[in-house]
Amino acid sequence: MTETIQDLKLKLDHLADKNRELLQRCGNLEATQLSLEQIIADNNSKRLDAEMISMELEQVFRKVTDAMWIVSDDGIVIRANDSMLQLLGKSSEDVIGKNCADLLSYGHCQKGSCPLKVAETNIQREYDIQLTGKPEDLEHYILSVAPLTTIVGSTGIVCQFKNITDRKRATQKLAELNETLKQIALVDGLTQIANRRRFDEVLAQEWKRLSRDKKPLSLLIADIDFFKKYNDHYGHQAGDDCLRRVGKALAGAILRPADLVARYGGEEFALILPEADLDAALHVGDRALGVIAELAVEHSYSDISEIVTISVGAATLVPLQDQSPAELIALADKALYQSKSAGRSRVTAAETRMTDFAGGPASIGL
Ligand code: GH3
Ligand code: MG
Ligand code: MG
Repeated sequence: MTETIQDLKLKLDHLADKNRELLQRCGNLEATQLSLEQIIADNNSKRLDAEMISMELEQVFRKVTDAMWIVSDDGIVIRANDSMLQLLGKSSEDVIGKNCADLLSYGHCQKGSCPLKVAETNIQREYDIQLTGKPEDLEHYILSVAPLTTIVGSTGIVCQFKNITDRKRATQKLAELNETLKQIALVDGLTQIANRRRFDEVLAQEWKRLSRDKKPLSLLIADIDFFKKYNDHYGHQAGDDCLRRVGKALAGAILRPADLVARYGGEEFALILPEADLDAALHVGDRALGVIAELAVEHSYSDISEIVTISVGAATLVPLQDQSPAELIALADKALYQSKSAGRSRVTAAETRMTDFAGGPASIGL
């Protein structure tokens, strides 16, 4: 017997150790397998989440009301959402893989400010663009362009077309409405010529301008003679009608674009004559008397005529910075008073301190 019991025992112990070691390894392997399975499960779940998110984002992209497309830096359309296809009036097959410039052109492509340039930058840009044919059909968009890295790793852009046509039209309408309101606010409702507010505005403007240019500013104030009697006998309606006709006729008595005829108040009218000296102003006043005479509106109750007449006061000043236009009005008003006192139906020039113009009161009657 070569092997003793002692040896066999030793071998047995050794085998028992080995067995324990193997069992230990087995346990470790099992644990590793378990953790690997856990990692795989986690990854699967993450991939699922990513797919869900991707699907969700895809839906958002497709369904967003603004038209959107993704274009690679060489101009090839990679993706387009439903609104974009609708905007182009094309199917997905006719859009994806095609060159963006062949599908849509909005001026910037040609101008050298092509949105594709954004792909080379890190900055988002906005463009105010108009699309489609006829001017009345023009659709207005805000095009927002942002650089992006495509799924294949190349650079590109994502474009969002926000239709602002309604907003733009509403703004335009509002501006037109404001303009109309402004016009209404400056026009006399009865006679449809400039009102007192417009008169004040223009007089102040011209006063300022001509004080700078050191040029004369003339003012005529015209007042219908015996208009109270006209109203009393022909009625207020006829009086209104007469005012309308007088206003229109006086508007025809001025010839220069810078001149203004306004209803100054009641049955008084004012004529602003920029750069007209006193001679020119008297000439216009004379013409004003003439156009009213031509109207030949019956006025059997006037103390001086069978028809409606006017009296006019004329004044001219070269405005000075420290003077107010009220001084010119006061002068013209005083001259009008003189026309009335002198027998009406005439033009009277105001006495001014100016030496530039024919001094002293002048009176021209018809
Ligand atoms: P004079 O020759 O001195 O100017 O006398 P007049 O009667 O014209 O002047 P007065 O100031 O006494 O009367 C002005 C009249 O103008 C009185 C008023 O009823 C009339 N009037 C003022 N505004 C209007 C208006 O908007 N419509 C009508 N129908 N009459 C008006
Ligand atoms: Mg009056
Ligand atoms: Mg009067």
